[in-house]
Amino acid sequence: MHLGYLISLIESKPMTAREICRALDIDASREREVYESLKKASKVLKKKGKTLVMSPPVCRKCGFEFEKLNPSRCPKCKSEWIEPAVFYVEK
Ligand SMILES: [Zn+2]
Repeated sequence: MHLGYLISLIESKPMTAREICRALDIDASREREVYESLKKASKVLKKKGKTLVMSPPVCRKCGFEFEKLNPSRCPKCKSEWIEPAVFYVEK
């Protein structure tokens, strides 16, 4: 995965891992690779004095904030209606 392109994507607007997959034209089943690349991108950005920010996944039903990147179900209300994590760059 091309880190420079990934960085330019999330610098232009906040994106979820799924949207990044779509933008990079890779299958959604490879979301895990996106998370790995975001980790690397975070280090690259740090050197440039920028910060990769993740707003965590949130349960749409009860508002629970997840610490896990890619939860499937809310531990509080058992809802599977989850707003995914969003990534963006803070300058
Ligand atoms: Zn919930």
